[in-house]
Amino acid sequence: MKIVINGAGVAGPMLAYWLRKSNHDVLLVEQAPVLRTGGYIIDFWGSGYDLAEKMGILPRVLELGYLVKEVRFVNSHGRKVGGFPADVFGAAVGGRYTSVRRTDIAATIYGALDSAVETMYGDSIAGLQETSDGVHVTFDRAAPRDVDLVVGADGLHSRVRELAFGHQTAFEHSLGYHVAAFEVDGYRCRDELTYVAHAVPGRAISRFSMRDDKTLILCVFQDKYMNGGRTSTLDERKAMISSIFSNLGWESRQILAAMDDVSDVYFDGVTQIRMDHWSRGRTALVGDAAACVSLLAGEGTGLAMAEAYVLAGELCACGGPGDYAAAFARYEARMKPFIEGKQGSAAKFASSFAPTTALGIAFRNAVTRLFAIRPVAEFFVGRISDPSALVASVVDSFSMTIDAPVVQQTANNFSVTNAAGTTVTFASIGIGPFHQPPNIQVTPVDGVGTSGGASNITTTSALIQEFSGTTGITGTVQLLFTGN
Ligand SMILES: Cc1cc2nc3c(=O)[nH]c(=O)nc-3n(C[C@H](O)[C@H](O)[C@H](O)COP(=O)(O)OP(=O)(O)OC[C@H]3O[C@@H](n4cnc5c(N)ncnc54)[C@H](O)[C@@H]3O)c2cc1C
Repeated sequence: MKIVINGAGVAGPMLAYWLRKSNHDVLLVEQAPVLRTGGYIIDFWGSGYDLAEKMGILPRVLELGYLVKEVRFVNSHGRKVGGFPADVFGAAVGGRYTSVRRTDIAATIYGALDSAVETMYGDSIAGLQETSDGVHVTFDRAAPRDVDLVVGADGLHSRVRELAFGHQTAFEHSLGYHVAAFEVDGYRCRDELTYVAHAVPGRAISRFSMRDDKTLILCVFQDKYMNGGRTSTLDERKAMISSIFSNLGWESRQILAAMDDVSDVYFDGVTQIRMDHWSRGRTALVGDAAACVSLLAGEGTGLAMAEAYVLAGELCACGGPGDYAAAFARYEARMKPFIEGKQGSAAKFASSFAPTTALGIAFRNAVTRLFAIRPVAEFFVGRISDPSALVASVVDSFSMTIDAPVVQQTANNFSVTNAAGTTVTFASIGIGPFHQPPNIQVTPVDGVGTSGGASNITTTSALIQEFSGTTGITGTVQLLFTGN
């Protein structure tokens, strides 16, 4: 199918990557003139981490990332009053986490496309008109195109969502906070691999020292501090941040002084997107556009990747272009309840992230000090880590040419090597298909496999047998893994 994806952040390239694997014709459209760089750091773990491993990009992500050692809360004099060693979190997720720039993740996923996907930069979908057999898409700059499907992966303020579903205000749920993030050069106070944060009721400011003498600053504050002020321009944003944080103590004066030289400040409301449905007609949404969980969930990136992956899997499982509606429905049925659970947890977490009262700050500090007692830490942190809950239900779909394939299985992987020496490895993720009783459909070309046609297979050994019975036939085979 011809599919146009608006937005080349995290979800867009991820969707393009998996759709390309099953030979869909994909166009990526990105508003920015080039792939974005810089920006805020995200914690990366759970299903996104597992998927990065599956795509073979994890080593690069880890190379770009930071293994945070400590989260430290300090008072207005810089004295430690709470916090926890990051290995508390690490232990809860089996050591499988890193902290990395959002743009580095996006660029790494995009890099995995190997230039195989047409990308239009500096443009955006501007109009959608459904026809009897497709969508007529217009753009801000490029000439119109007729496609089968449209996907909005254009983030929290999605234009595609607005075009297909209506204005943002209908779906946006404020969590009562705003966030600002910026990067400063040469900031002198540094604590390597440590998030250092200071909070007063309703306002929190933190810094994280990065490579190349850069420091990331993150400010979170209650909406009421905005006082209706304007934040459209860079200068207005800086003025707003200065007015809110100037009397905070700790390093707030130095940080605000360093902000003077900054040329980009991320500034937005902490909001969630909640919708009744993620698709309408031939248009679907993915990532923040569909269901932003907000920074308070600490896993929007991984969830955006998982949504894209599942959507791609469902579209790959389509019998033909007419099946898209069923695929969209399956995608939504699999992911929406799970994401809504994450949104609920994030909304509850809001007041711990930037407590609104002195008592709340004291409570948070006290609880995090108790994290030194391992069972207490596990109780709190364990509640937020459930990477396997999602991966048990992902769909997967791959294509490859098979000719006298050699099939091998290790503890976590299943690979097929064809006569030309090409190997495709299917890594299970989390407790995925090969750890759970799998339900695997093989849809080979005629004559491939012992059963010679589409078959349902419920054990790995049966799958191996299916392939191993094939000799001398070249064709494309598609696997659909549906975990339980
Ligand atoms: C301060 C902050 C901290 C966060 N911390 C974490 C964290 O610790 N862990 C975590 O997992 N997540 C975190 N998140 C959330 C995470 O950044 C998002 O959930 C994730 O980036 C969503 O990916 P996406 O591809 O849906 O959207 P985005 O990454 O926002 O990408 C959208 C893309 O669409 C493009 N675009 C926008 N409009 C248009 C248009 N009209 N036409 C074409 N292109 C367009 C944009 O330029 C962008 O490239 C944080 C978010 C914030 C704001």
